[in-house]
Amino acid sequence: MIRDLHTELIEINRAQISPAVLERAGAILRAGGLVAFPTETVYGLGADGLNEEAARKIYAAKGRPSDNPLIVHIADTEALNKIVQEVPKAAEKLAEAFWPGPLTMIFHKNECVPLGTTGGLSTVAVRMPSDEIARELIRQGGGYIAAPSANVSGRPSPTTAQHVYEDLNGRIPLILDGGPVPIGLESTIVDLTEECPVILRPGYITRSMIREVIGEVQVDQGLIEENALVRPKAPGMKYRHYAPKAELLIVEGPMDQVIAYINGQCCDSGKTGVICTEETKTCYPGKVVKCIGSRKDERSIASHLFQVLREFDEEEVDRIYSESFHTPGLGQAIMNRLLKAAGHRKIYVT
Ligand code: AMP
Ligand code: MG
Repeated sequence: MIRDLHTELIEINRAQISPAVLERAGAILRAGGLVAFPTETVYGLGADGLNEEAARKIYAAKGRPSDNPLIVHIADTEALNKIVQEVPKAAEKLAEAFWPGPLTMIFHKNECVPLGTTGGLSTVAVRMPSDEIARELIRQGGGYIAAPSANVSGRPSPTTAQHVYEDLNGRIPLILDGGPVPIGLESTIVDLTEECPVILRPGYITRSMIREVIGEVQVDQGLIEENALVRPKAPGMKYRHYAPKAELLIVEGPMDQVIAYINGQCCDSGKTGVICTEETKTCYPGKVVKCIGSRKDERSIASHLFQVLREFDEEEVDRIYSESFHTPGLGQAIMNRLLKAAGHRKIYVT
């Protein structure tokens, strides 16, 4: 992969967001260039979503398969009408309830959205983020910013500007550093082109939160089926993702059994990694232990997942065992990402 650009990393003070920096970043986007920026979910890699050439640069910088469509980010609800054919009633309600925020909706696209942005699909994914830096950059950049997560394809999504730098240094001109992101998992995706709305990717906005606003909502079979015969409808969900270098295995069952099982494992190098929580971090003597958060605060688990997966790449471990995190609200989204990182390798202990 070629790294021939100078990458500038600019720290943004959230108490006083510099208009000059955002204007400069916006000018790069309007000229068809790439800028990485914080959102409340993960860092995004932005390009003008209505400019096919610009959107293509995203695929090149990330090494992303070209059939994996991009999400177009807008800064206000009015912007939606220009790029979609119609806004169903359910979408209006969801936008009112969750925008700006970590919810992406899929619509039938208008002509002005190039197929290079939508991976050749006639539909387009749209989100209005709540992060103030993101919103101002979208405005400055022309209003329609295509932005996938700002990682090299297959790596864990970036939750700090440093993660973006590790992956994309030399491939993009500018990274806006707005500090660590608050949520740490990508947006919930809901498809509104079907008769009944369908969740294509679980996220911070849960199924029950969506149900409360619009009534029935389905979950894509491709997410539920454990055998990989059913293809997920979101093209990106079929790819291996987030995978650390070492083999990752998820262990499920009663906590004392999980701890006993993991402690019973050792590998050739003698170094085994463990992903656990505050509650159990002292239970694995002799292992390389990473605490992901507390079971009393599931948001802490969500927000550290990708960071912990990245940190293990710096450790000489042969294998990583992870506790499972079926927490009440975010558990679905957390386990979706963790299972993908593990290539769906899971052990039940009883
Ligand atoms: P990322 O931006 O890296 O979080 O990836 C965006 C996700 O949105 C991928 O899983 C895509 O497959 C999905 N996506 C984007 N546009 C569409 C669309 N029009 N239809 C279905 N899924 C989409
Ligand atoms: Mg991604």
